[in-house]
Amino acid sequence: MSNPSLLILAGDGIGPEVMDEVKRVISWFGDKRDLAFDVSEDLVGGAAYDAHGVPLHDDTMAKAQEVDAVLLGAVGGPKYDDLDFSVKPERGLLRLRKEMDLFANLRPAQCFDALADFSSLKKDIVAGLDIMIVRELTSGVYFGEPRGIHMEDNMRVGVNTQRYTEAEIERAARAAFELARKRSNKLCSMEKANVMESGILWRDVVNEVHQADYADVELSHMYADNGAMQLVRAPKQFDVILTDNLFGDILSDCAAMLTGSLGMLPSASLGLPMANGRPKAMYEPVHGSAPDITGQGKANPIACILSFAMALRYSFDQGAEADRLEAAIEKVLADGARTGDLMGPEGGTPLSTTQMGDVILEALDASL
Ligand code: NAD
Repeated sequence: MSNPSLLILAGDGIGPEVMDEVKRVISWFGDKRDLAFDVSEDLVGGAAYDAHGVPLHDDTMAKAQEVDAVLLGAVGGPKYDDLDFSVKPERGLLRLRKEMDLFANLRPAQCFDALADFSSLKKDIVAGLDIMIVRELTSGVYFGEPRGIHMEDNMRVGVNTQRYTEAEIERAARAAFELARKRSNKLCSMEKANVMESGILWRDVVNEVHQADYADVELSHMYADNGAMQLVRAPKQFDVILTDNLFGDILSDCAAMLTGSLGMLPSASLGLPMANGRPKAMYEPVHGSAPDITGQGKANPIACILSFAMALRYSFDQGAEADRLEAAIEKVLADGARTGDLMGPEGGTPLSTTQMGDVILEALDASL
């Protein structure tokens, strides 16, 4: 049997720096766990624009459709700020999401005990936090028509349309129920059914999917504004949260910050199953290209490495190996390993990107 395939798109800024550490981790699993991947690499974002005049070449898009999973670093940077909208680095990322039809965006908010002091919330509220937000990613108000700015009665009017079909809600709900089953079997769906028809439909469809196929999962519903309050009041009441594109954008950023640094946050975007049963998938850190620290060896590679852990779990059914990798990261943090973004007021000498990779590999070795 051939090895599972990975396409690495490191991108711009600190993308290639953090991805170098992920490549070492991938090699470790090949060498030490008999879990080898066929890895190919290509360009995305500003790097692709520099080489080809577009932020994602058609050949790269075709490769992304072929592989078992895509790992992406980050795109963008000041050099590209004045480019036409159609060729901006972010367009490469959007094209990947759109053409791979990655409709379920998974954003875990996990607070490692060693970093609980970094949260803006009290330590006891966030310590041990482990929740997952599933955001619908390819529909809703960011895509709905009509949209635009037009004149009415001599005034400009801005229009966006929140639109969801049953099928779009159903597939996002199924992804979230499946995930809940792999975790603690608990799902909370958030919308605004009190004031939005699309919210009423959302709630109905989630209930229908629940009754038809997932009655074993404990389902609750919450208005999204209350959800925002509850996330900062008592986040540990949640396990998996399902929500739409707009509310998910806001709620996932809010939940993410419960955990402290942007350098710690992974994400997965999943689509429909391919012929081999694996979902179309792209894994990427939540952070951007961090131009302020690019090229200085200061970037925290953990978000990108945790994204690979998500790939092990959700694309390759290697939950135990994903646990091993996450435990190695938890251990190095507990032992005091810190990149600059994780330094507390007590100070100390931060590790470089590569040094953080070194200690994580050592912890992986120690796990054998
Ligand atoms: P950013 O996430 O790049 O950086 C925000 C702050 O967090 C910076 O101070 C940065 O140094 C720090 N930071 C981010 N990741 C870090 C890491 N791994 N280790 C240590 N510190 C880290 O966001 P920004 O500054 O708003 O955007 C910079 C560029 O990235 C822009 O061009 C933006 O469009 C792009 N961007 C890309 C993505 C993506 O590729 N998915 C996401 C967000 C922003």
